[in-house]
Amino acid sequence: MDKPAKRIEVLEESQTIAMAKASRQLKAQGVDVINLSFGEPDFKTPEHIRDAAKKFLDGGYVYYTPVCGIPELRKAISEKFKRENNLDFAPEQIVVSTGAKHSLMNLMLVLVEVGDEVIIPTPYWVSYSEMVKMAEGQCVFVKGAEENNFKITPKQLESSITDKSRVFLFSSPCNPTGSFYSKEELKGLAEVLVKYPNIYIVADEIYEHINFSGQHESMAQFEELKGRVVVVNGVSKAFAMTGWRLGYIGAPAWIATACDKLQSQFTSGTNAIAQHAAIAALNSPMQSTKEMCEVFRGRRDVVYERIKKIKGFETRLPDGAFYFFPNVAYYFGKKSPERTITNGEELCNYLLHEAHVAIVPGSAFGAEGFVRISYAASEADLLKALDRIEVALNKLD
Ligand code: PMP
Ligand code: GLU
Repeated sequence: MDKPAKRIEVLEESQTIAMAKASRQLKAQGVDVINLSFGEPDFKTPEHIRDAAKKFLDGGYVYYTPVCGIPELRKAISEKFKRENNLDFAPEQIVVSTGAKHSLMNLMLVLVEVGDEVIIPTPYWVSYSEMVKMAEGQCVFVKGAEENNFKITPKQLESSITDKSRVFLFSSPCNPTGSFYSKEELKGLAEVLVKYPNIYIVADEIYEHINFSGQHESMAQFEELKGRVVVVNGVSKAFAMTGWRLGYIGAPAWIATACDKLQSQFTSGTNAIAQHAAIAALNSPMQSTKEMCEVFRGRRDVVYERIKKIKGFETRLPDGAFYFFPNVAYYFGKKSPERTITNGEELCNYLLHEAHVAIVPGSAFGAEGFVRISYAASEADLLKALDRIEVALNKLD
């Protein structure tokens, strides 16, 4: 029969990628679409990183690498954890993968037995739920209240824990809300987790450097959780290197060894050129990252002022990442001549076709009633897109 295995049939397509695809298709038909659906920095990879890659490529030694990454890169990552996060992950505890997405999938396959529960605060990054499905685990969603900047409380966490809980998975700064957990807030969650030694914590810190207020805090800093926290990070966001495909983990040694074994049968070591570029990225001053972050901050402020003026878009000022996540439920039940908007997906489709702006429905992140707007685009495009959105929304009644 011409159909894929069940494990693929039950999988949802990534909505961030689906919206980006729909917007590319419209663009190919000559439509002037502004794509605010995709979460990737619109900056070039900094020159010194590209130069390091070119130099390595010109040397021609582009062969298979050790599965978990070349030693110089694992050392650079281990040093980065110490320097920036004061965390002790020895090079043997580092595994380099083909993007943080790949690192996360490895972890689900390594940690989750069939039927195990993975606790995920909502809104969550789009792929978490599908990764848990692929690992044949069960998601247990915990709702981060909008009034609490979409963050969960220790009490909520505790009441989601059962005998089957195996992993607590979250991102901070968070995609899609841009919220981040302070040290005190993380400590509160850690105090709960310490009572349940069967639970491992997967802390997705890929937006670490896109943070506008306060110090980035890692869940791995708490002594009482030692040996139970895996930090996921990568070069995509901090160094505008999404297409290079390189992510990494710092993990308890047995988890690193298991990820290495998994990759040895699945992907082998990631692209050698990207690994050399990542060494240059991690070992050089963070000036370009800081500059990029400042540009994001400027855009965030401009977009915030503009979104606030759009009727029915209730938004908070995000602290990090590069997304707004407004509540748009006001528009549910409103009509255009062709359709009634009953949910976020319909609103996004309406805006794609009427305003030619691509954004992502909150349902993709486990939060119906919201939409995600990426501001990884030029200020001019952002303002044009928001003007168009407002005009299209005003046509609904
Ligand atoms: N985690 C989060 C929260 C993300 O937004 C992304 C963005 N794609 C990833 C992981 C994966 O990043 P990458 O695979 O590009 O390293
Ligand atoms: N993380 C980005 C996003 O959330 C990239 C898309 C993806 O990998 O799904 O849009």
